[in-house]
Amino acid sequence: MKLTLLGTGSPIPDANRAGPSMLVQADGHHLLFDCGRGVLMRLAAAGVLPPMLHRVLLTHLHSDHVTDLNDVVTMRWAMSPVPNPLPVTGPPGTAALLDRTVAMLEDDICYRIAHHDDLHEPPSHETQEVLDGPALAIGEVRVTAAPTDHRPVAPTVGYRVEHDGRTVAIAGDTVPCDGLDRLCAGADVYVQTVIRPDLVAQVPSARLQDIVDYHSSVTDAARTAARAGVGTLVLTHMVPAPAPGSEDEWAAIARADFGGEVVVGTDLLAIDV
Ligand SMILES: [Zn+2]
Ligand SMILES: [Zn+2]
Repeated sequence: MKLTLLGTGSPIPDANRAGPSMLVQADGHHLLFDCGRGVLMRLAAAGVLPPMLHRVLLTHLHSDHVTDLNDVVTMRWAMSPVPNPLPVTGPPGTAALLDRTVAMLEDDICYRIAHHDDLHEPPSHETQEVLDGPALAIGEVRVTAAPTDHRPVAPTVGYRVEHDGRTVAIAGDTVPCDGLDRLCAGADVYVQTVIRPDLVAQVPSARLQDIVDYHSSVTDAARTAARAGVGTLVLTHMVPAPAPGSEDEWAAIARADFGGEVVVGTDLLAIDV
């Protein structure tokens, strides 16, 4: 199994970090988790084009995690020579989001159907909403969902991907909670979106201070990793983005509470699981 961090940014635009998204490749399948800013550029860099995706799995519907879902929908449709419905899994609300996305794209859909003689149908999708339990069985790959805690944003989920005795936990935005512990239990790799409350506190913006109480800090993530007995903790979606050269400082904070391997994520970093 291979995990590729496609984008390691946050809502705040960053020249070097695309929005949050990850690719998990296992047993010949390509699973895309979240669709942040620039997802298709990074996906192309990882050698995967939209028609090749076996499923998109969303952790929650915050804009930074779904802003380029419309690009995935459009290019899956436009690049597929025959109808190729996009399978999407996500928390309750996902089906309505897909329907609204297609509605938003109505002008483009009409232009392309009118222009291409071999294109007759609008984009289609097969949506599955999950909260707790089995989310996907494809080939020998199994994905389980569990509820996370990103309140007042709700519902939100994380995923546990298992193949060939190896496990990746993809947490999404959440504070420590029972669902997260279940996703991470004994995982080889645990990917957590994190913030640094100590740095956020230095920014004179009330709106930015609001993010502290619904994300895991680096220390929270490290303690979750230690409690769950994971092998490698991967930090992503870092707020604020680490200043160049400060990555070791971020890792050191995690290592204070977690004895396993710590990875400070960068775009297109690939990890063999
Ligand atoms: Zn969020
Ligand atoms: Zn986020």
